[in-house]
Amino acid sequence: LLPAKPLPAKPLADRIAVVTGASRGIGRAVSLALAEAGAHVIAVARTQGALEDLDDAVRAAGGSATLVPLDLSDYDAIDRLGAAINERWGRLDVLVGNAGVLGKLMPLGHVDPKVWANVMDVNVTANWRLIRSLDPLLRRSDAGRAVFVSSGAASSCRAYWGPYAVSKAALEALVRTYAAETETTPVRAMLLNPGPLRTAMRKAAMPGEDPETLRTPEDLAPHIVRLASPDWTGSGTIFDFPTGRVLTPQKPA
Ligand code: NDP
Repeated sequence: LLPAKPLPAKPLADRIAVVTGASRGIGRAVSLALAEAGAHVIAVARTQGALEDLDDAVRAAGGSATLVPLDLSDYDAIDRLGAAINERWGRLDVLVGNAGVLGKLMPLGHVDPKVWANVMDVNVTANWRLIRSLDPLLRRSDAGRAVFVSSGAASSCRAYWGPYAVSKAALEALVRTYAAETETTPVRAMLLNPGPLRTAMRKAAMPGEDPETLRTPEDLAPHIVRLASPDWTGSGTIFDFPTGRVLTPQKPA
């Protein structure tokens, strides 16, 4: 019998990872897990103080991070982020497009156009701008991995979740298109459905729910680390955390 190949202690050592929405919830837990796996994390969100807290936690875990306080609806700032990463590292290995907003739950006829626009700006257009800005850098990695956080709302189409559901359905089309466009390169693009997790967004959506009944971002984070690793090859797939299944949407004939 051959001895089992030992797993590397730091599977993402020397890899450069951008995480959006890194200031709290899923993005914070994923940033920490990526840093613990050896990646240098470029942590993006608006709230500087929360990013600094994350930085403390990353350092305490022996990792390293670069903090990028920016509003993702500032698309020029996304372009500057790409230019800065290019100048410093010349490539990007991992992009976790996690930041998102819920908007307000209400009938479509009552949605404020400003709320609609903000949900589309952050959940859809910012992710396209990230792809536009960072794709050349991901293609320079030997195994670029782009993981985007969607939601079951993309297909459930429940009453009152209109802007959010539409934005996540659009995100899924965006990422599957990107996966098709990068199929012949070392880049792999994937989606993830976290299911209900104990975060501020879930609390805002379901204020009457007992958060203790929910799984946490820390439960999910190791799975995102796995999707971000060079070993993962399922381009265009959706990892469904509630069931643990990898779903492959049908391709057109
Ligand atoms: P949180 O509300 O806890 O965190 C959202 C993150 O997005 C924050 O870090 C926030 O940072 C960032 N963000 C929001 N708007 C902007 C902006 N304009 N510019 C930059 N950053 C922004 O949410 P979750 O952690 O729960 O959600 C993370 C992702 O998971 C989202 O895409 C969400 O749709 C998805 N999801 C979550 C589920 C859940 O049950 N929690 C279920 C299904 C999907 P800051 O405010 O500092 O800018």
